[in-house]
Amino acid sequence: MKPSPDFLAVTRSERTIAGASRLTPVAALLVAVTLLAACASTPAPTVGPTSPAPTASAPTSPPATQITEEGLRDRLDALAALSTKADGFRAVGSTGYDAAADLVISDLQASGWQVQEDAFTTPAFFDDGGSRLEVAEQAFQAGDVAPLIFAPGGEVTGPVVAIDWETPESTGAGCSAAGYGGLPEGAIVLVPPGVCFRRDQVVAAQAAGAAAFVAGYPAAAAGSVLRPTLVDPDGLTIPAAGASGPAVAALIDVAAKGGDATLVTDARTVPSPTRSIIAELPGSEPDSVIMLGAHLDSVIDGPGVNDNGSGVAALLEIARSLGGATPRSTIRLGFWGAEEVGLHGSFHYFEGLSAEEREAIRVYLNADMVASPNGYAAVYNESGAPAGSATVRDLLAAAIERAGGTPQILELGGGSDHLAFQQGGIPIGGVFSGANETVSPQQATASGSKAGAPADPCYHMACDDGSDLDLGLARMLTSALAEVAGDLANEPTLLED
Ligand SMILES: [Zn+2]
Repeated sequence: MKPSPDFLAVTRSERTIAGASRLTPVAALLVAVTLLAACASTPAPTVGPTSPAPTASAPTSPPATQITEEGLRDRLDALAALSTKADGFRAVGSTGYDAAADLVISDLQASGWQVQEDAFTTPAFFDDGGSRLEVAEQAFQAGDVAPLIFAPGGEVTGPVVAIDWETPESTGAGCSAAGYGGLPEGAIVLVPPGVCFRRDQVVAAQAAGAAAFVAGYPAAAAGSVLRPTLVDPDGLTIPAAGASGPAVAALIDVAAKGGDATLVTDARTVPSPTRSIIAELPGSEPDSVIMLGAHLDSVIDGPGVNDNGSGVAALLEIARSLGGATPRSTIRLGFWGAEEVGLHGSFHYFEGLSAEEREAIRVYLNADMVASPNGYAAVYNESGAPAGSATVRDLLAAAIERAGGTPQILELGGGSDHLAFQQGGIPIGGVFSGANETVSPQQATASGSKAGAPADPCYHMACDDGSDLDLGLARMLTSALAEVAGDLANEPTLLED
């Protein structure tokens, strides 16, 4: 598969990689967000029973789920209110994150669920706002130059060397030290989105002797550069920042002339205690667990109401709808911390489980962005996912169809918290309404959204404030999750392919 040339898609995949690189060889994960065949060309999903007949000994089933737009809206409003006011929004290490965690705990308890915390310490990244890039007569500041998450702060003045900009798409030269050739002393390298993770590019540039790294995003408009995570601060020694289109143009120009630039990154990485929230509705067969998860943290650059307040609202609304029921399998919810900086909360939780506890988890269902304003109703279809995942995909697709939607089958390349479970051999699935990737004509036809525009133009930006979300789409995706979770909780043998 070829990584998408869309810089935004590449940014999303960079986050993906981040989490993955700790557990698997990065080479095995060079997967960008890739749209797979969907819609008309997709075979009709196999449909499992939606209301399995109770066996003689079956305990109370969850009631028919009644997911409402109002229930989703109330929770999104509450998250938006605290996230917008809080310093650092809901990013790891912020007061907003702790306030959101407390909100989730009280909501779950009101719905009758048992709640625990999974505490861990993880690096938190703080941008202190003074970063700048000086190129010839131009000076770029916040919005056009953004320190990459976990890159050290610093100041470098040196010759600009553009790597791999000769062709319209990266050849991957920036992914290995050899691709940097013989760099001059103190070089600032400018590297396009490539076929590997940004972390790999930064490490390769360091090994080649670069003094600073600039991740170029030529398609990013002035003032709208995004920043990928480098996953882990360990091993990073040089300042690194993302640059918008205008900043990239200035750097390429000065590189051609053999001139210098100055990069200042004003950022800190600080170990921070944080927590994921774990909730349970005990079943009559405690050795069988159906798990759902959504990350509770946001990026540092915006309030994250769609990403991922929407997934959190979905799980809270499911918790409310199932409160008081006694399913056969235990239903467990994970509200993950530190997803945006490298999937740390879900990996911490999964790595802390015993072999027996892992074995009890029959399936993991993920919700990360379900209310995108120009979105579509996607279900996960991850390459190499464990047996049972295809069944989950088909069950979710069928549930979306029953709700009047046209499911889009999508590969996310491990870009969210399902990855820890997937790598641990658990069948996985999930729903998604699209991020900043451009909506395809097929997706637009299926969903009534606009082709050629991003599903969520505010992805990872300050405008992800909840003011323009598609609650009808969120309700559809949440209902599908609730229905499939309930069906699997009462009849886990549905997963046996
Ligand atoms: Zn997210």
